[in-house]
Parts: sequence; structure tokens; C-alpha cells
Amino acid sequence: MELKATKKISLHWQIMIALITGALTGWYFPSISPYVHWMGIIFLKTLKMIVVPLVFFTIVAGMAGIGRGENLGRMGLKTLGFYFVTMLLAILTGLILVITLKPGIGGGMQLPEGFEGLQAHQKKLGEILLGVFPENIFKAFSEPNMLGIIIFSILLGAFIPALESHTARKITDLFEGFSSLMLKLTLFIIRFTPLGIFGLLTELTARQAGSPEALSRLGSGLGLYALIVAGGILFHGLFTLSLVLYTQGISPLKHFSSMTTVLLTAFSTSSSNATLPLSMEEVIQKAGVSKKIASFTLPLGATVNMNGTALYECVAVLFIAQVYGLSLSLTQIIIVVVTALLAAVGSAGVPMAGLVMMSIILSAVGLPLEGVALILAVDRPLDMLRTALNVYGDTCAAVVIAKSEGESIYSG
Ligand code: ASP
Repeated sequence: MELKATKKISLHWQIMIALITGALTGWYFPSISPYVHWMGIIFLKTLKMIVVPLVFFTIVAGMAGIGRGENLGRMGLKTLGFYFVTMLLAILTGLILVITLKPGIGGGMQLPEGFEGLQAHQKKLGEILLGVFPENIFKAFSEPNMLGIIIFSILLGAFIPALESHTARKITDLFEGFSSLMLKLTLFIIRFTPLGIFGLLTELTARQAGSPEALSRLGSGLGLYALIVAGGILFHGLFTLSLVLYTQGISPLKHFSSMTTVLLTAFSTSSSNATLPLSMEEVIQKAGVSKKIASFTLPLGATVNMNGTALYECVAVLFIAQVYGLSLSLTQIIIVVVTALLAAVGSAGVPMAGLVMMSIILSAVGLPLEGVALILAVDRPLDMLRTALNVYGDTCAAVVIAKSEGESIYSG
């Protein structure tokens, strides 16, 4: 199964062209947007359509294949450890940048009058953690509650080998068959990525073309804030994660270039969940990670591992504190670091989830929730960047874990 949409131009170039032409079309001819936006909508819908069955079937098949769960504990711990350490590194990068460059001080930012709407989405941390265990699996599938689905699939798959061997074989074959089928369907949908991305980008930029105030505001401290988030994301993706890959004997350059399609899709959709089918396909096909490891690390990563969001949460909250003229104590900064990590873990892989989760950190350190209004104007482009890093972090985890389990990555 080769990912070649045409013989001449490879898929990631097609996507790159779609991204640029989409942005230019939206900016210079915004009236065209309604005629092409539907391509983006259908693309997103089809990705969301396959993500739940894809995750369900591949995890169950993967678990059944792992056997009676001997390797599961080790692999699970390694994966979670990887996610924890890389997210912490991302937060510390953001922390250092925002503390030294102080984007919120003296930037002439206006304090927001009031900001409604955030409380409605606010969830308590406890609620989020308990929500991991679905009481109704059909509800979890329809919401979708990805962590709930992952937990149910892991349990279901882990018990298949406990069945009488003939039955276990039949059920495993069935799930493996369905999981291959879902990957085939994914591959089919991926072929339409350039069209989908063209539609999405045209609409996105057409909207900005109508209200260019976001651009004009960039002269203030908000511009520096946006640059810090973007710079931090680039540093973490290109330097920190490259270093991690390098120390594990994986070529960062090779990995980065193999993930171009995935990165561009994450960037254009601002959704880790929507990108999941692609990252599964690419990590298996291009890097050579086994289905077993890809189906464990990537869905879990798309839900809990958010390097970009973690970094962004930390920078944004400290920026808001600076604009309000509040200097945080060391204890409060530690609380920001810890809650930024939790907020990133709790953010769903959908657009703007990180912005909504920020209320957790703001209330933990006693900052006004209205502060979120300060950063709204530049949130969309930052969401695109942080999503790309979120997904890239997941793919790095997949190749590192696979390599540590003795799989040959990028061989041949
Ligand atoms: N959009 C991000 C994602 O899907 C989450 C966020 O808003 O930070 O990964």
C-alpha cells in the first residue's frame, strides 16, 4: 500500500500546494469560500466518522495480539512516561521564554471588560478524571469520549486471550480483519486530503480577510506572546523532540520528513482526533511501526499527550498574569506548571480545546477568567501550530516505543 495520489506529485506536496493556494484564495477572493468550504467539511466529517471505529478495532485487535497482557504493563508505563517527560519539557520551554521575554509587560494591552461563555464549558478536574470510565459505552462512542473508548477497548482486547483458544482465535481474527478494513478506508480518505485542506484554508482565511483586526493587534504585546508560543513550539518540535529521537537512534530528519502529511493535516484541521487516522496509517506504513504499538500509543497520545497545548497553556496563563500586573510566587508558578500539564492531558483533541481548559489553571492561581479574552484574537493560528506539535509528539512516542520494543524503524 503506497501513499501516492498521483505518479508525479507526492501527497505532502499536494497538501502544501492546497494549503498555500487555499490561503491565497481565501484572502484575495473571500467570496469563493462558500463554494469550496464544503470540501473541507466533508473531509473533516469523514475523518471523524472513521476515528472511533478505527481506534476501537485497532486497539482491541492489538490487545488481543499482545497476549495475556504481559507486555502491556511495560509498554503502557513506557508510553505514559514518555508523554509525561516530553510534556513537562514543553512546559518548561514555555516557562523560560515567557519569564525572560515578558510579553505582557509594557505592551499596551487593554484589560478585557468581561468575557462570557467560558464558564459554560468549564469542567472540574475531578469530573474529567472520572469521565475516563464510561458507564455507558454507547454514550462514550457517540460523544465521543476517546479516553473512555480507549479504556473499554483495552479491557475488551486484554480478555480475549483468556477465552477458550478456538474462540479466542476466531474473535481475534475478526477484530484484526476489521482493523485492516478501517486502515484501508483511512487510506482512501487520505487521498482527498488536498481537496479538504484547500476548502478548510480558503474558509479560514476568508473569515480573517473580513476582520483583519487580529493582524492589526499584533503590534502590541499580543504579537510577542504569539511569537513566544510559536517559537517555543518550533523549539520543542525541532530541537527537544529531535534530540530525543536522536538519542534513541532514530534520524529526526527522516522522521520529520516522513510525517509531513500528518503535520500539515494537523495544522490545517487544528484537531488531533481528526488527524489520528492519518498518523496511524503513516506511522505504520512509513516508519514501520507495528500495528500493535501504533494502535496503543497513537490513540492514547491523541487524547492525553499534548506537548503543544501544555506549552501554550503555561505561556498564555503567565502572559495574562503579566498583563494584569500580577507577579506570581514560586508556589503559584509550580501550580501553573502542574495544572498546565493536567489541562493539556484533559484537553480533547478538537479545535480550541486548550483555550477552554485554560480556566482550570486560571482559577487554580486565582487569575480572572476574563483574561482569556486577551488572547482570543490570535488563538486560531496558535491552535494550528500547537495541534501540529501535539500530533508530532505522538508520532515520536510511537517510533521511540517501537524501537525500544525491538522493532526495526525506518529500515529500508
Ligand atoms: N486543538 C488541539 C488538538 O486537537 C487541542 C488544543 O486546543 O490545544 O490537539
